[in-house]
Amino acid sequence: MKKHICLLPGDGIGPEILAQGKKVLEACAAKRGHEFVFESANIGGAAIDAEGCPLPESTIAKCKASDAVYLSAVGGPKWDAQPPSNRPEKGLLGIRKELGLFANLRPALMLPELAGACLLRPEAAKLGLDLIVVRELTGDIYFGEPRGTEVRDGLRTGYNTMIYNEEEIRRIAKVGFETAMKRRKNVVSVDKSNVLETSRLWRAVVAEVHKDYPEVALSNMYVDNAAMQLVRDPSQFDVILTGNIFGDILSDEASAITGSLGMLPSASVGSSGPGLFEPVHGSAPDIAGQDKANPLATILSGAMMLRLGLNMAEEADMIEKAVSKALKDGYRTADIMEEGKTLVGCQKMGDIVAANL
Ligand code: NAD
Repeated sequence: MKKHICLLPGDGIGPEILAQGKKVLEACAAKRGHEFVFESANIGGAAIDAEGCPLPESTIAKCKASDAVYLSAVGGPKWDAQPPSNRPEKGLLGIRKELGLFANLRPALMLPELAGACLLRPEAAKLGLDLIVVRELTGDIYFGEPRGTEVRDGLRTGYNTMIYNEEEIRRIAKVGFETAMKRRKNVVSVDKSNVLETSRLWRAVVAEVHKDYPEVALSNMYVDNAAMQLVRDPSQFDVILTGNIFGDILSDEASAITGSLGMLPSASVGSSGPGLFEPVHGSAPDIAGQDKANPLATILSGAMMLRLGLNMAEEADMIEKAVSKALKDGYRTADIMEEGKTLVGCQKMGDIVAANL
């Protein structure tokens, strides 16, 4: 199979970690007889430096012409003085919008080899953690109108609008159920329908969509309870389906529990066109250019790209197994280092995973 992948190396550790992700994809393609054609484009601070804005038109065009977009991270102190409209993060928000990416998928997986990093009490950690948060990305209170601040009755007052229409809920619910079909077939839809009308509509539409997925078990949970259950026993969750604001908070909570920021991949997808695949962490300017960064979140984002963006599930499995083997064999970057393990740099970790393929 021949696939076009647009690389967005971005800032800070971005170029170092994405180089490892590319190396692993190339090793995978060689092993399986595929051809990946890579094209690079500027985004974030690198794009500001080279082309004057965080998301140049040429980058948008290259992304749209590809089968999948593979991004590392943007931002850093160098661009702190930029006006809000020209900050590196605008590149990220802009490309998500341009590609119509309405669903964000964030797995939180605690690999047995890294159980020591888990923030939960040992009795909760030993139950394991392998879930995915499917978060709506383009609606909800973050984008709802009206919004603003004004003086009401002599008091400064801020307001936002939580809003979803049934079509927005239906399309993200489908992503949730489709995701569950490829996993353990269990969806927990998270809302606050005891208080919010928006949530009552959410719950009703999710139930309608569920009729098309009779094999999937569906239950509902209030968001406050979900936040508590995540730390009490995250092993009960397979797919958490939720709106933008609840998903923002719960996906951070779920991934923080694993304790390994450098290990967490993510995917953002729309109804058609290329998806965007990137690690959850930022550009880590404090360790940029020192060969210290952990490339595994980026490599695992590459696996998500193969599975969800390029329909290559077996190849995705291969990469995930190659990562597990590197950890089982005791290799660690500094951020996940433990006593008795072998410390390696970013490049070496990429080499090891590629060799494991
Ligand atoms: P960060 O995730 O970049 O770093 C937080 C801490 O984790 C740092 O100590 C860093 O060294 C460490 N870390 C992160 N990724 C690592 C990796 N792969 N290997 C080893 N250690 C790693 O968050 P921050 O420091 O709050 O932000 C730095 C910059 O990144 C800011 O400009 C911020 O806006 C940007 N940012 C970008 C994204 C993105 O591109 N999606 C996400 C978050 C933050």
